[in-house]
Amino acid sequence: MPAQSKPLHSNRELFDRACRVIPGGVNSPVRAFGSVGGTPFFVAKGKGAYIFDEESKTYIDYIQSYGAIILGHADERITAAIRRAAEFGSTYGTPTLGEVTLAELIVERVDGCEMVRLTSSGTEAAMSAIRLARGFTGRDKILKFDGCYHGHSDALLVGGGSGVASLGIPDSVGIPAGAVANTIVAPYNEIPLLDESYAAVIVEPVAANMGLVPPLPGFLEGLRKQCSENGVALIFDEVITGFRIGEGGASKYFGVTPDMWCFGKVIGGGMPIGAFGGRREIMEMLAPIGPVYQAGTLSGNPIATAAGATVLQLLDAETFRVLASRAERLSLGLKEVFNNAGIEAKVPRLSSLVGIFFGAENVTNYAEAKRSVSLGMYPKFFNEMLTLGVALAPGPYEALFPGLGHGEKEIDHTVDLAGEAVKRLLK
Ligand SMILES: *Cc1c(COP(=O)(O)O)cnc(C)c1O
Repeated sequence: MPAQSKPLHSNRELFDRACRVIPGGVNSPVRAFGSVGGTPFFVAKGKGAYIFDEESKTYIDYIQSYGAIILGHADERITAAIRRAAEFGSTYGTPTLGEVTLAELIVERVDGCEMVRLTSSGTEAAMSAIRLARGFTGRDKILKFDGCYHGHSDALLVGGGSGVASLGIPDSVGIPAGAVANTIVAPYNEIPLLDESYAAVIVEPVAANMGLVPPLPGFLEGLRKQCSENGVALIFDEVITGFRIGEGGASKYFGVTPDMWCFGKVIGGGMPIGAFGGRREIMEMLAPIGPVYQAGTLSGNPIATAAGATVLQLLDAETFRVLASRAERLSLGLKEVFNNAGIEAKVPRLSSLVGIFFGAENVTNYAEAKRSVSLGMYPKFFNEMLTLGVALAPGPYEALFPGLGHGEKEIDHTVDLAGEAVKRLLK
């Protein structure tokens, strides 16, 4: 970065202002620095792999809006699509061509997903998918896995990973016991025994909200079998994995087809969005043609669908190959850094998703993830990296999201800086 004149704002001053009018100064708890210490930086702009804060400091960014950005920040093709859509109008409350286009792009790419309904967030998608599964099966009970996050709706905010995990809140107050009475929480990577009282099993096919925890061989297949045998709807929450780990998402990657899907993040190109989908017979239970009510003033928003459709059209087998190879370069580089420094750590990778777990133990579920986090290494590594100009998520339970904006140059520079961070950390 060229030398800059004195910045207009300091992060500290902005955070103080934010705290006066926004609880904790943030609009989503994962953005707070509670678990790593210090003050959040305020981003003024981004470009590709980089973000620039209000103090004009540059960071190589692995937050990438927690996976909502895959092409890199401020990709010109997305910016153009957003500008074009916005010039016509930002929302109408009527059907638009853009929502049909995005729905078609999703349905074409995800085998077995015959219809989708668009929402404005992943939370809404998961919440609505659960309601639909209950309506379809006529049953109330659902099963989720400890450490998986499916948004912040009442019934699903038990055993949630991500920000809930960082804050050490096992649950949230304000949720009536009745709202979670039908939510059973089971350990990830163990196939639960189901029966015909369950409406649905919802799972992150690759858990990415308790660090990165891939499914063990047989786990997803076992869920499919248990669900099929008991008439239970299997819901893949692909809000992170969808259109990130490959063209057809996790269902294609693992060759396991659920009954329903949740999408979000990538499919909005950085605009607020979510979607849930499934087999036609299930989806046709939705209002206005079926008895399960679900709605949204801004659902299928024309700006969001324009951005999302542009992203999906730009992602093909080749881009996913590039993404995975960049992520591999990052994970191998970080592994070597930790190894050379004698620091015990795991750097799991699945396709383009990367995680960091300190400690010698392999992490296959939330209990093991928590043990790794309790070693207390992440905040130290995070802060050294931040000082050196690498933005990791300010919590130990998040994945790293290298995207198409991260060239080999940025990845190699990140690995070099990690080497320096580790040196400082051991001093
Ligand atoms: C982010 C996320 C959600 C929630 O999406 P929002 O758009 O933040 O409401 C749901 N499920 C998973 C797996 C997620 O990672």
